[in-house]
Amino acid sequence: NAVVTGTTGRSPWSLLAAMHEIEADLGRVREVRWGPRTLDLDLVQYGDPAVASDVVLDEERLTLPHPRAHERGFVLQPWSRVDPDAVLRVGDAATPVGDLLAALDTSDIEDL
Ligand code: AMP
Repeated sequence: NAVVTGTTGRSPWSLLAAMHEIEADLGRVREVRWGPRTLDLDLVQYGDPAVASDVVLDEERLTLPHPRAHERGFVLQPWSRVDPDAVLRVGDAATPVGDLLAALDTSDIEDL
C-alpha cells in the first residue's frame, strides 16, 4: 500500500477519472467488488481540512473524504510517513493523521 500527495489543476471528478484510466492502463478488470485486482487507486481526500480547503462530497461516484480512510492503518501509516503534518477530515473534525494512527491497533500492519 502506498499514499501519494500532490497538487492538481483537475477537479476531484477529473482526478478520479484519471485514476481510473491508470487502473485500466495497468490491466485492472473490474469484475467482482473486493475481488482480486492488479491495482486499486482511491482518492482519500481533496484539499486540506486544516485550512478548510477540502471538498466534501457524498455521491456514489465520489465520496470525499474517503469514508473508511480514517480507520485504515494501511492508509494512515504510509500517509503519515510521506506527510507527518497531514490532517484528515473525520466528520466535522480536522484530525491529524498521526493521532488517528496512534488510536488504531496497528500491530497487524507493522511490516507494511
Ligand atoms: P473500488 O472497487 O474500491 O475501486 O471502488 C470504486 C468505485 O467507488 C468507483 O465506481 C468510484 O466511482 C467509487 N468511489 C466513490 N468514492 C471514491 C473515492 N473517494 N475514491 C475512489 N473511488 C470512489
